[in-house]
Amino acid sequence: MQTEATSPFQTEECALQQQDSSAKDGSRRGVGSPPSCLVCGGTRLAKIHRTPDQVLLCCDGCRLVFGWPVFSREALLEYNAISFRGEGFPETTGYFDRSLVGLDGSSLLRQYRRGLEQISRVVPSGRLLDVGCGVPMFLDLARSAGYAAQGIDSVPEIARIAREDFGLVVHTAPFGRCGLEKDSFDVITMWDFLEHLPDPMGALILSRELLRPGGVLFVSVPNHRSVLHGVAALLGKLPYRRTLEMVDKLYHFSHVCIWSPRAIETALARAGFSPLARGLEGPDLSRYRLPAPVRAGLTAIDVVGRISGLRSRLWILARTADGPSMDRPGFPTGVRSTG
Ligand SMILES: [Zn+2]
Repeated sequence: MQTEATSPFQTEECALQQQDSSAKDGSRRGVGSPPSCLVCGGTRLAKIHRTPDQVLLCCDGCRLVFGWPVFSREALLEYNAISFRGEGFPETTGYFDRSLVGLDGSSLLRQYRRGLEQISRVVPSGRLLDVGCGVPMFLDLARSAGYAAQGIDSVPEIARIAREDFGLVVHTAPFGRCGLEKDSFDVITMWDFLEHLPDPMGALILSRELLRPGGVLFVSVPNHRSVLHGVAALLGKLPYRRTLEMVDKLYHFSHVCIWSPRAIETALARAGFSPLARGLEGPDLSRYRLPAPVRAGLTAIDVVGRISGLRSRLWILARTADGPSMDRPGFPTGVRSTG
C-alpha cells in the first residue's frame, strides 16, 4: 500500500464553526454544532466539495472524508431499503438482482475469492459473520470454503432470500443492536458496509468484542486517495451542470465516510486491531446501468489507478490486537449503537 501523503486534491481550508446554513433538515446529525471527524474527532477539516445535501470534509489528522451534517441513522436505514429495491439511482436499477444471477466472471466475485483467500491464510475455518451482507453471495462462497457462515443486514428481504434461496442464516437488525454473543466469531467481514455508517468506530469496536481473541476482521471500502476522486475534484470545478451532477452522485449522502489507507488504519488501531494485509482493487462495474461513454471512462480511470497505485477501492485484513484499546484517552468506551 502506498504511503499516505497530503491529498493533491485538497482544496479549500475550512474551519466551519457553525452549521451549514443550507442544512435545516432535522434528519441530519450535527446540525447546529461544529463538525468533527467521525474517526479521530479532529476539527481541522478541509472542504473538498459541496453537494445539494452536504459539505464534504477531509480530516487533516486521519484523512477521512465525510459529509456534514451527517444524516440520521433512521434516514440512512430507510435509504438502504430504497436502494435494495433498485429505487435509488437509474444506474443502480436491478443492481441486487444482478448480484443473484450475473456474478460469474465478474470482478466482484474475483474480489470475494481474493478476500476469502487472504482470510483463510490466517483463519482457515470457524465461525464467520458477514456484516451488511446484502444478497448473500459472499456468505455462500464462505460456506463452500468450509466456514460456518452467517450474515446480518438491516433489510428484511435479504434475510428471506438468504433463507429461502441459499439456506443461510441472516439476522435482520442494525449491527449495533444485533444481540450476538461476545467472543463468538473467528472472522468478521464487511464488504461495502463501513462507508454507510454515521458511527464507524462503534461498529469496529463492536466487531472487536464479537471476535474471539486472535480473530480477524476483513474490511473493503471505497478509497478516496484514488485517481477516481482526483478526476471528480477536477470535474467538480467545471462550470457544467452535467459533470457536477456526476460528482454529486459520487458523494451521495449514503456514503457517510469515504476512506483512505490512513483513515482506515487509524480507525482500526483505535478500535483495537492490528493490520495483517492490505491492498487496492477496482470497482465492479458489471452491475451498474451506465451509458457506454461513462462505462468506458470509468474503466480507463481504473486502468490509470491500477498503474499508479491509486485505485478506487481498498481492503484490509486485521487481527484483534493484544491488550485493551477502548480506554485510550479521547475514545468512546463500551459499545455504541450503530446502524
Ligand atoms: Zn480524523
